[in-house]
Amino acid sequence: MAVFFNDHFVANENALLHVSDLSMQRGYAIFDFCRTKNWRPLFLNDHLDRFYASAAAMHLATRYNKEELTAIIYELIERTLLDEAGIRILLTGGYSVDGYQPASPNLIITCNAVKTASLADFENGITAMTYEHQRELPSVKTINYMMAVWLQPLLKEKKVNDVLYHHKEIITEFPRSNVFIVTKDQRLLTPSRHMLRGITRKQVLSLAAKQMDVEERDIRTEELLQAAEVFLTSTTKKIMPVAAIDGNIIGDGKPGVITRKLYNEFLQLEQQGGQ
Ligand code: PLP
Repeated sequence: MAVFFNDHFVANENALLHVSDLSMQRGYAIFDFCRTKNWRPLFLNDHLDRFYASAAAMHLATRYNKEELTAIIYELIERTLLDEAGIRILLTGGYSVDGYQPASPNLIITCNAVKTASLADFENGITAMTYEHQRELPSVKTINYMMAVWLQPLLKEKKVNDVLYHHKEIITEFPRSNVFIVTKDQRLLTPSRHMLRGITRKQVLSLAAKQMDVEERDIRTEELLQAAEVFLTSTTKKIMPVAAIDGNIIGDGKPGVITRKLYNEFLQLEQQGGQ
């Protein structure tokens, strides 16, 4: 398995980051993650735009422009010999002399087998609990998923699959996915702020805008629990119905009509190469 490390391809076992890197010392790094289908990265342009925006927000210099990075990613896909994979583009704070000051960033791009949600996963949906939390720098895709990882034992104890963050009763996002609700009068709502702008979210918004009223705005937890349908979106989960939240069944607990329609349209988009 090949890995791109700063300026060359190395074998997986030689892709070693020194312990002085700020990602290890202080958790300082950003990344983006996209998926390939039929050897092609889906929505790569949007993922790279977000990667550059995250890097700039964290004052991390990038050594390649979009064209160069695209060529590197295509070469990595070819070398990896996987027609469907997950590509992770990681940019760290670099080898810091005092473990605090940012240094020259390290760029690590990996291409590995990826597990995506299946049709059976879609039919089952997921269950979730709400939790009061606001991510630091929510518009940036940093490597900080500390709260999400810390909450894993609680999710097991509560027997739910995922957690939906809210701040002062305004819902924001799941740790790794965006949230949407379909109201009883068939409007599609999704939070407009304090969350990461997902690439799947963007695609779903444009698919939905062709057929229904769409609003990006604050959504209160009461509104969430009264929704006809709730679903989440992400690169690996695609569109996933949320069957129950905090023990309240949403709709009849099955994938809703709008969720299913958007899901089928999204799969078609993916099949067409998702540009
Ligand atoms: N929100 C957060 C915090 C995420 O980390 C992610 C993806 O990992 C998403 C939302 C969904 O974004 P995307 O659709 O680009 O995968």
